[in-house]
Amino acid sequence: MIFSKKLIKGGVHPVGQKQLSNNSDILSIPAPKRLFIALKQHSGSPAKPIVKAGETVHAGQLLASGQGGSANIHAPQSGTIEKIALHNAAIPGGAQQEMIHLICDTGPHLDEIKINTSYSSRAELIDIIGDAGIVGMGGAVFPAATKLRSTLNKQIDNLLINGCECEPYLTCDDLVMQEKCVQVVGGIRYLIEASGAKRAIIGIEDNKPDAFQILTDATSEDDNIEVRKLPTHYPMGSAKQFIQALCQIEVPKGKRSTDAGVFVQNVATCAAIYSAVRYGHPMTHRVVTLSGGALEKPMNVEAPIGTLISELLANCGGLKTSAARIIVGGPMMGHTITNIHSPIMKGTSGILFLEENELPQTANSPCVSCGRCVAACPMGLLPNAMSQLIENDDLEGALDQGLKSCLMCGSCAFICPASLPLTQYFSYANGELNRQKKMENKAQLARELNIQRTARLEKEAEQKAAAKAAKKAARASGSRKREPRKSTRNTSKTTQEV
Ligand code: SF4
Ligand code: SF4
Repeated sequence: MIFSKKLIKGGVHPVGQKQLSNNSDILSIPAPKRLFIALKQHSGSPAKPIVKAGETVHAGQLLASGQGGSANIHAPQSGTIEKIALHNAAIPGGAQQEMIHLICDTGPHLDEIKINTSYSSRAELIDIIGDAGIVGMGGAVFPAATKLRSTLNKQIDNLLINGCECEPYLTCDDLVMQEKCVQVVGGIRYLIEASGAKRAIIGIEDNKPDAFQILTDATSEDDNIEVRKLPTHYPMGSAKQFIQALCQIEVPKGKRSTDAGVFVQNVATCAAIYSAVRYGHPMTHRVVTLSGGALEKPMNVEAPIGTLISELLANCGGLKTSAARIIVGGPMMGHTITNIHSPIMKGTSGILFLEENELPQTANSPCVSCGRCVAACPMGLLPNAMSQLIENDDLEGALDQGLKSCLMCGSCAFICPASLPLTQYFSYANGELNRQKKMENKAQLARELNIQRTARLEKEAEQKAAAKAAKKAARASGSRKREPRKSTRNTSKTTQEV
């Protein structure tokens, strides 16, 4: 465990466990009997279902359309929609989510539906990527087309392709680079076109020598694509740190990388873009690392999105011993789940089944003010001070200390000799602040509605009063007009009487 010298600030060197799963080829898994396809498996709003229960669908058919910058969702397999209902999701907290329950065809499959792949401009090329429902597969799960559209009015100098995969245990990107290098490089060429970038740089950590060599050979005739080796150093793959390491650019706070002339995409996303633009295949499958000491056969599998984790587990030989913890993602930034009857989504990079001896020590002692967490923080924050403030319920104080800049990379918690759960503090504080903000927004909305209601009632009262006054005035003027007739009658009566 040493501090790195230095393409990026801070960071740590967790012991890599990539050898568990990077020695065998990717295993392709057929569709199971049922798929559970979440409507929200990207950043932004959930996709809107356009199919109904009982409907028959083809593989590749659009099931739900992205709205407000979110991503389309397609059927990985032909079959029948059973229902659209809540199901367990492998998300932090383990809540349920709205999912399309698809009963897959067991017999001969219906024809596959492909997306349109003809284009004559950058915008149309981006539309194909959007139609295919492609999202960033490196963790952010940001819809790729939305990100690309933001480059249409900007100058992009460098397209950076992230092949770092700095999380220990995860090897899905490594295997994709090795086994799908044609798709990765093809996708990079399309991305250069779509983003208008002058050149592309693929950054790969030096613990993946095979992937580095394969991609160097595959791009040897592309003058505008360079492959660079980066030191193995966590969190090299985090976007800000990756940009810093390859371009020595620090993206200013509150700005996007595209504002600094840089566009970052992950290697597996490039392969998905190639399949969409070249062959019309929407994003329906992904490669997932299954690893950890409790697994019988750690490996990488390519599976339809919506496959249950329990089905993946069965396909790789099950557990050899009980798992002390199951983590979705990597051990540094992933989250624990308890229910393996939850499906994989577009952003699921790995599922780890860890034994007790693979877990960090949990018994913690008070902070010894050693400052290691400060030295390890790649964002230059003071994790010890922030955690103290959060412990004292001073969330505003933690915000002032830069809580919103925290990457949740876990470097501070990893290095802490007191085993303080620092990232848990930050995660709690962020959740609580979001909750408070939602409550504030609700209260603000209620206040605004109340003001509108009061104004409406006042207006209605004014209108009523004005109508009443007008009626009264009309009555008064009516009676004034009638008066002369009355007096004539009276006069005549008087005359008769006379
Ligand atoms: S404070 Fe945040 S960004 Fe800094 S090391 Fe800890 S988790 Fe990473
Ligand atoms: S690393 Fe842990 S013990 Fe050291 S200062 Fe940070 S919080 Fe305290």
